Amino acid sequence: TYRALVMNRTEEGFSTEVRELTEQALPQGEVTVRVAYSSVNYKDGMAASPDNRIVKSYPMVPGIDLAGMVEQSSDPRFQAGDPVIATGYELGTGHPGGYSELARVPADWLIPLPEGLSLKEAMALGTAGFTAALSILRLEQNGLRPDQGRVLVTGASGGVGSLAIAMLAGLGYDVAASTGKQAEHDYLRELGAQEIIDRSELTPEKLPPLQQQRWAGAVDPVGGRTLASIVSSLRYGGSVAVSGLTGGFEVPTTVYPFILRGVNVLGIDSVYCPADVRRVIWQRLAGDLKPRQLLESIGQEITLTDLPDKLQEILKGTVRGRTVVKIGS
Ligand code: NAP
Repeated sequence: TYRALVMNRTEEGFSTEVRELTEQALPQGEVTVRVAYSSVNYKDGMAASPDNRIVKSYPMVPGIDLAGMVEQSSDPRFQAGDPVIATGYELGTGHPGGYSELARVPADWLIPLPEGLSLKEAMALGTAGFTAALSILRLEQNGLRPDQGRVLVTGASGGVGSLAIAMLAGLGYDVAASTGKQAEHDYLRELGAQEIIDRSELTPEKLPPLQQQRWAGAVDPVGGRTLASIVSSLRYGGSVAVSGLTGGFEVPTTVYPFILRGVNVLGIDSVYCPADVRRVIWQRLAGDLKPRQLLESIGQEITLTDLPDKLQEILKGTVRGRTVVKIGS
């Protein structure tokens, strides 16, 4: 048997509890993984809320990220004892996910743990770190370089935000951090932010179609009116990498920044990101993008039993940095 967090939606209502399951409960897949760590992402919070629209069937084991050791594999690419990572795809939404001592997944979803990362570090990064890195990769591919000027990161104290700041600062970028949390300014400076902006400053009552050209680029997991504001204050030819919607999904913008300043909106999706790009990203996460503050100040560790409270907390926007879930021994 193995322990897992199980969500269920029945006539009696919605429940989330740690349960003892037998191997018969494992889904189809070529590789069985003994999970060591998982993590908590905003999407996990959404999946664990009773009225969510992202979980495709119940009962479901949530957890969009996992890292552990291969226990059994019918795919020649993986052998028992290999350390592996899986993020995204259907994990934790349409296929039992990472909040479980055992997981079984298609071999195509797995990435070998790159040299230079421990399983715990891989999950301190997780989908949030992957998304921050993919955002930076896309900005670089669109011409961003450290000498072009200040780069804005929104949702700064959250998972994607914290990691993007640390990664950009580590690469030598000059970073501005936008946060709604007065109490996290010191934390954001420790990650490498040169300037801290109050979240409300980016979204005044009335948003002009064009503002002063302020940012060479931006990493935006907030979306909504914040994104509209960024688009209108990017420098000529600059880009914003858009990954999230904690600030809303409607973006009230105009064509002017695009046709007068040639700015770009780069869409970032970690869930179905192709395997070849995934490998490149994980190599960089273990190398030039690995934040030095990863386990010291960004990641904090919890256990399976702490999860239900943490999953509610992340939706309120009050969590700082990243939460790693210790699953196995
Ligand atoms: P998180 O750790 O909860 O961080 C979210 C941060 O957003 C909060 O810490 C807060 O930062 C800010 N925020 C919260 N409510 C806000 C509001 N009403 N207005 C403006 N800012 C607000 O979440 P995460 O895991 O980093 O994910 C962030 C977003 O990216 C989510 O929407 C998530 O679904 C999305 N995401 C997408 C992908 C993808 O593949 N596209 C991958 C990962 C994440 P401050 O208090 O510092 O402002």
